[in-house]
Amino acid sequence: MSGWAPPPGRLDVLVLGSGVAGLSAAVRLAAPMAPSGASGASPGTGLRVGVLTKAELSQSATRWAQGGVAAVLGGDEDSTDLHLADTLAAGAGLCDTDAVRVLVDEGPTRVHELIAMGAVFDRQPGGALALAREGGHSTARVVHAGGAATGAEVERALVDATWASAAAVLEGWFALDLIVEGGRCLGVRALSAGGEVVEVRADQTVLATGGAGQLFAVTTNPAEATADGLAMALRAGVPVADVEFMQFHPTALHHPAMPRPLLSEALRGHGALLRDADGERFVDELAPRDVVSRAMADRMHHQGVESLWLDATALDSFDARFPTIDASLRAIGLDPTRDWLPIAPAAHYLSGGVITDLSGATALTGLWAAGEVACTGVHGANRLASNSLLEGMVFGARLAESILAGDEGASPTGVLGAYLEGGAEPVDAGQSAPWSTSTDTAVGQESWPDMAKAREHLQRLMTDGAGVVRSADSLTAAGRAVGAIGEATGGGAPTDRAHGELANLVTAARCLLSSALVRCETRGAHARSDHPLAVERWRRRIVQVGGQVTLLRPEPSPDSGSGGTHSSGERPTGSHPGGLQPGPRPGDRGHPASDR
Ligand SMILES: Cc1cc2nc3c(=O)[nH]c(=O)nc-3n(C[C@H](O)[C@H](O)[C@H](O)COP(=O)(O)OP(=O)(O)OC[C@H]3O[C@@H](n4cnc5c(N)ncnc54)[C@H](O)[C@@H]3O)c2cc1C
Repeated sequence: MSGWAPPPGRLDVLVLGSGVAGLSAAVRLAAPMAPSGASGASPGTGLRVGVLTKAELSQSATRWAQGGVAAVLGGDEDSTDLHLADTLAAGAGLCDTDAVRVLVDEGPTRVHELIAMGAVFDRQPGGALALAREGGHSTARVVHAGGAATGAEVERALVDATWASAAAVLEGWFALDLIVEGGRCLGVRALSAGGEVVEVRADQTVLATGGAGQLFAVTTNPAEATADGLAMALRAGVPVADVEFMQFHPTALHHPAMPRPLLSEALRGHGALLRDADGERFVDELAPRDVVSRAMADRMHHQGVESLWLDATALDSFDARFPTIDASLRAIGLDPTRDWLPIAPAAHYLSGGVITDLSGATALTGLWAAGEVACTGVHGANRLASNSLLEGMVFGARLAESILAGDEGASPTGVLGAYLEGGAEPVDAGQSAPWSTSTDTAVGQESWPDMAKAREHLQRLMTDGAGVVRSADSLTAAGRAVGAIGEATGGGAPTDRAHGELANLVTAARCLLSSALVRCETRGAHARSDHPLAVERWRRRIVQVGGQVTLLRPEPSPDSGSGGTHSSGERPTGSHPGGLQPGPRPGDRGHPASDR
């Protein structure tokens, strides 16, 4: 339904992005379709809901997901406590335990709801769901579809349900910036499919714009993953956290294709081996991703090579178990039953993002966030494999239920609760960004140079300066060069998607580089060659808001008054961010948030 014009007046809810998080929210907010088939107010919920997405509805990182969805769905050996413990271990001391508890407790129900919506997962001969084991999981708990085509099936089911709902869909529309008026979010300014700048106003706006893999030259993420939501939030003065924790997937196929085809962790779960340039094994294949990526970076550095090997030749029935991977390998002349597969780490998943409470509310009233763009605290310093589809399903549904319940404003729960409690320690600007502390790209000359070249240049700088292993020197050099790109390309408000994406990548790159520079330790997905150990005093969340960098303890203190309500997600009545939040309020910038 591209070209659909927004209805006159405001929508009740505008969902930005059509991956697992956005559509999990949309199908609950807008279900079901009116018998006449007309889009508009949902007869089920009475809400007028719009889904705005920059490509086709089905285009998202979600549809590329392979391995599956982690949830406790069977098996006597498993329990939600074990899933919680595995998630906390991967998160390296920075998870929000209450958010993880919500994730693991509600996950199984959300998977069953998706099955009821029509998603078909792989089953054992007896009919029980087939469960795989992946790195960092202490038992087999990952449901999958089509072998390693899980994301495609999850996305298909949600896209079908969205088309069958009363939601109005805007395909090929690019959200430029949040509209912030009177201290609340009221929708977005967007480029329509026809290239017009249009205001799409809504009482509630859901940010579900996905991740930021396109910050790097080597990534598994699709071209849409340009950190747009993160950058919009930064410009609107909405707090973000944990942005230094970009997870690098160890086993991306070393091949010129972009995004890099991923050789799912499930292959190692089924027994595939990692081999160095000499054919030797060098790391536990089922260790967490950061451990494997770092071991690979180290080995590649010492052996002077750009790739290592994944040996899946001993796996039974490769083509039947992993038909999608098998087909993509054979398409480029590799036979996984005979050939070792060339691999190298690739930017894969942004663990941090826009801070939310346990219901997906951000610090800006009227703005909600879910999925990869959000920082719910479930991933901490490193995401456990297959927890991200689950996070989108759980928190997308949760925020929809909160909106349907009429909730307004944030509650003092989850990561946002800790932030609202105060106690964040400011970091000196010279320490966080010796090159500049501005998040504003709207400075500099009027004309834009070649967008594609500037984007490629930025991606190369980020891979060199902020890749698997970083240092103060590499981060500072990247910060200076990215700042120069920002100044050279920053003339005025973007007038097309390429300009907008580049501006967003510059904003997000500066944010990531600042946080990575401040974090003088190695923890989770963040590795510093000049600070190779984890340091207890750095067990802090790095929060950025309004150009300021602050340090925050990861968990609320026990006497905060919010304990006990966290896992249920109950919201104290009367909670409103206006009276709670420290520091600058979202939208309180030197210029209106809708200006660049
Ligand atoms: C190759 C690969 C394999 C993966 N495998 C797994 C796995 O097995 N298990 C797992 O749990 N996770 C996996 N992940 C991670 C997981 O797929 C993502 O984290 C998750 O799908 C993110 O969902 P999302 O809804 O937050 O964002 P996305 O699915 O990325 O959706 C974001 C949406 O926002 C839209 N958008 C972005 N910016 C704008 C804008 N400015 N205006 C309008 N629309 C916009 C995009 O077009 C897109 O529709 C994998 C990721 C990749 C890339």
